[in-house]
Amino acid sequence: MLSRVLGHDGAKDRFARTIAAGRLASTYLLVGPAGIGKRLFAGELAAALVCERDGPTTLEPCGRCDACQLSSAGAHPDVLAVARPEGRSSLPLELFIGPPDKRHREGLCHDLSLRPMRAGRRIAIIDDADDFGVETANALLKTLEEPPPRSLILLVGTSLARQLSTIRSRSQVVRFRPLADEQVEAALSALHGDLPPHEAQRLAQLAGGSVGRAAGLAEGDLVAACREVLSCLDSARTEPLRFAQTLEQQSKAAGTEPRLRRRQLHELLGAVARRLHERLLESSTDTPTADRLLEALDAVIDAEEALARNVNQSALVQRLAERLARCAA
Ligand SMILES: [Zn+2]
Repeated sequence: MLSRVLGHDGAKDRFARTIAAGRLASTYLLVGPAGIGKRLFAGELAAALVCERDGPTTLEPCGRCDACQLSSAGAHPDVLAVARPEGRSSLPLELFIGPPDKRHREGLCHDLSLRPMRAGRRIAIIDDADDFGVETANALLKTLEEPPPRSLILLVGTSLARQLSTIRSRSQVVRFRPLADEQVEAALSALHGDLPPHEAQRLAQLAGGSVGRAAGLAEGDLVAACREVLSCLDSARTEPLRFAQTLEQQSKAAGTEPRLRRRQLHELLGAVARRLHERLLESSTDTPTADRLLEALDAVIDAEEALARNVNQSALVQRLAERLARCAA
C-alpha cells in the first residue's frame, strides 16, 4: 500500500479503509511539517486511484499500465496538480479560474468539473495550501462546496493554523507526523548511496523527522559549512574577526530556526575540535605547539559548553575567536 511513501501508516490505513468502504470524501487536507512526504503521498494516492490494474483496490500503483506510466511522467489527464510558482508569495488566482480573458473556462476549477478522460475520477492535488490568498480561496470555495461528481481534491499544507477557515471547514483533515530518525536515515541512505552510515545517522538526527531537510544537509549545507570554517581556522590567530564572522555565518546557514542554528554551530564546533585534536596527536608532546593546541582545544570545549547552556551565540563565537587569537601569542 503506497509503498513508495515511507511511514505514515496511519494515513495509509485511513485511506485504505475509507476507499474499501466506498466512502471517500471529496476534499482532504493533508497537513504536517515540510519534507516528510505529504506531497509524495498525495501523488501516489492519485496514481493508485487512476491505475488501470488493481491499484485502486490495493492502493498500490502497478507501475506498468499506461495510466501508471502517464502518472509517473506527471501527464495523466485526470490528475491535475497545481502549486505556488517560484517567485510568487501565494497561489495565483488564474491557476484556479483561468487568466482574465478566459475566466472560468480554464484553470483547475474548470478542469476538475470535466468528465474524467481515462480514469473513474478526476483528482486535483493542490500543493502549498498554506499560501492561499483570500480571493483565490474564495474562487475555490464553490468547487469545495459543490464538488463535481467523481472528483477528489487533495490539499497539501503544513500546519492547520495556516489554513484559511473557509477551506479547513470544508475538508477532511489528515495529519502527518514527522518521521522517526531511523526512517529518515533509511530514506537518506536510499537517496545518497555513498553516504557513510554514521553520517546518515547524524544527519537524520539533525533533520527533525524531515527527509527533505536531511537531504538538504546531506547535499552539502553542513559539509560545506564545516569546510568553510576549517579553511579559516589557521587564520584565526591572525584574523580572529574573520574566523568569528565565518563561524557565525555558517551556523546561520542552517536556516532561521534557532534550534537548527544551535545544532549547526554545535556541529561546526565539533569539527573544529576534531581538527585541533588530530593536530595535537600529530604534534610531539611538551612542545609550544602542543601547548597552544591544548589551549585552543580548551577554548573550543568551553564554547561547546556555553552553547549547551544556551549562551548567546554571537557572544560565544566572539569569545572563542578572541581566545584562539591569544593562543597564538
Ligand atoms: Zn497501473
